[in-house]
Amino acid sequence: MSAGGKLDTFILDAAGPRPGAGLFGLNNQQLTEQLGEFHLPGWRIRQLETALYSQRVTTLDEVTTWPKDLREQVKTAGFEVRLTRIAETFRSVDGTERYLIACADGQTVETVWMPEGDGAEDDDSAPEPASGEAPSARSWTRATICVSSQIGCAVNCQFCLTAKLGIIRNLTAGEIAGQVAAVLNRHQAQPGRDRINLVFMGMGEPFLNYDAFMDAARLLAGPMAIPESRMTVSTSGIVPGILRFAEEPIRPRLAISLNAPNDAVREAIMPITRKWAIADVIEAVRKLPLRPRERVTFEYVLLSGVNDQAQHADEVARLVRRANFPARVNLIAWNPGPGVPFAMPDAQSVDAFQQRLRAGGVPAFIRRPRGRDIYAACGQLKKTMD
Ligand code: SF4
Repeated sequence: MSAGGKLDTFILDAAGPRPGAGLFGLNNQQLTEQLGEFHLPGWRIRQLETALYSQRVTTLDEVTTWPKDLREQVKTAGFEVRLTRIAETFRSVDGTERYLIACADGQTVETVWMPEGDGAEDDDSAPEPASGEAPSARSWTRATICVSSQIGCAVNCQFCLTAKLGIIRNLTAGEIAGQVAAVLNRHQAQPGRDRINLVFMGMGEPFLNYDAFMDAARLLAGPMAIPESRMTVSTSGIVPGILRFAEEPIRPRLAISLNAPNDAVREAIMPITRKWAIADVIEAVRKLPLRPRERVTFEYVLLSGVNDQAQHADEVARLVRRANFPARVNLIAWNPGPGVPFAMPDAQSVDAFQQRLRAGGVPAFIRRPRGRDIYAACGQLKKTMD
């Protein structure tokens, strides 16, 4: 579909199920309300929160701080943890793993694990793990998890495989945070001890599922103990979402999926530009109170012959300079996918684009593609590609 006027209506229709008996994904107040019939004191609710989000239990039987009869009563009343689970794993030669994560209604969503960071060139990455190594071998020292916010996507970026699905439904806060919990459990990772970064750059447009996305971000930053400064959300430029985001006391970092030097080029590859032009997006980003040393990231997928020419780089540099807030550009060579009519730029033109941006005074970094062989790289997430 076009991302024009129909978008808001479409998203309203795509609201996901809100299962009443699943506890994972509820915050302290919601847990208190849901379990109101048991008249539990606050400390019992806090014990449950610790079990759900810090220990990441998968059944109520594992909430061992509760007496057995309380666990049984709560189970008998129909409550369960209902954590999303990994249904299928695809492992890349570079150590990246792509998962199909099963939701309670049988839908699946995609999540990606990237050991040693997200591939940004400025990362102080340790050597890559050897291919075929078991994930439990702890060959990683830090990792990034790429999280989905919707099943499918309505935004219809022309270079993106997920767009081909259309929007199927929104994910709940529990399903968003649950992807992280399921992946942390698989790798026995512990935020606090292990350096875990999150990028909300998987399937979907987080700002078109704003409330569930922010509820999940608060759970992740709170009881799941992942610092907000280690989370980044990427938006295609949903202006009302950016304005709400700017008001949030706790929030991830912001990335704008720019991908074009001007509205004309952007409209051809991102129809959402017809609704919100680049200038509108930049104006909204200006409202974001940045933390010390924080920069806004502009993501730029390079498509050969479309947006990767020298004059495009000069235009992007001007645009970023005029934006006049601390920013950086992440360059990503487009990842090929079947039925998507673009060509991948060669390494030289990617390097040349970076140099041109840097010469124009803009910090620019090249992101190495991760998991391209398993369709885990940027813009490649589409569950029918198994
Ligand atoms: S790039 Fe992101 S916003 Fe655009 S269609 Fe794909 S998932 Fe949606």
